[in-house]
Amino acid sequence: MINFTQLVLASHNAGKLKELQAMLGASVQLRSIGEFSSVEPEETGLSFVENAILKARNAARISGLPALADDSGLAVDFLGGAPGIYSARYADGQGDAANNAKLLEALKDVPQAERGAQFVCVLALVRHADDPLPILCEGLWHGRILPAASGEHGFGYDPLFWVPERDCSSAELSPSEKNLISHRARAMDLLRQRLGLK
Ligand code: IMP
Repeated sequence: MINFTQLVLASHNAGKLKELQAMLGASVQLRSIGEFSSVEPEETGLSFVENAILKARNAARISGLPALADDSGLAVDFLGGAPGIYSARYADGQGDAANNAKLLEALKDVPQAERGAQFVCVLALVRHADDPLPILCEGLWHGRILPAASGEHGFGYDPLFWVPERDCSSAELSPSEKNLISHRARAMDLLRQRLGLK
């Protein structure tokens, strides 16, 4: 059970705050770390979990509030889990189109059956900066990397991610459909359970 009504979200992204607030429900108010600081911590971890905890601790330290952080990305089986925690900067910070082009090149000639991948979202909640027992919730969304981009919605790797349960790319799902089944939705579902909100 929770004993707080506010959480600071360790993200400056207004869209992410809105999306996670909608998933969390109205009983806990998410506030942006941007209210307290514009400095972002260096993500020095080697895993989604480490980076999510690092960001949550930093946000709690700066704000003095309990903090929630998410770390997400795409892990491709054939590439040993790459681009993983480096998903946003896979093509050295050149943006989504370059990231997608690099991924397609890395999987050139790889047969369909070996193109399995998952979107990953790890949520870390700390009650205070030195919390020895962060709440960790992992959401995985299994799919496959398509041979070419398809679809106009979403962002990042969505046009290349084939969603088996819908037989389309995640960029072909409407935002509301994606938000029901995505890695973030799954992680947030677990968090709501852990917080006794459902
Ligand atoms: P962040 O944790 O929101 O910064 O996401 C890290 C990176 O992972 C993004 O920049 C995208 O490249 C990728 N990513 C995470 N979630 C998604 C998604 O839902 N669709 C497409 N790409 C995603």
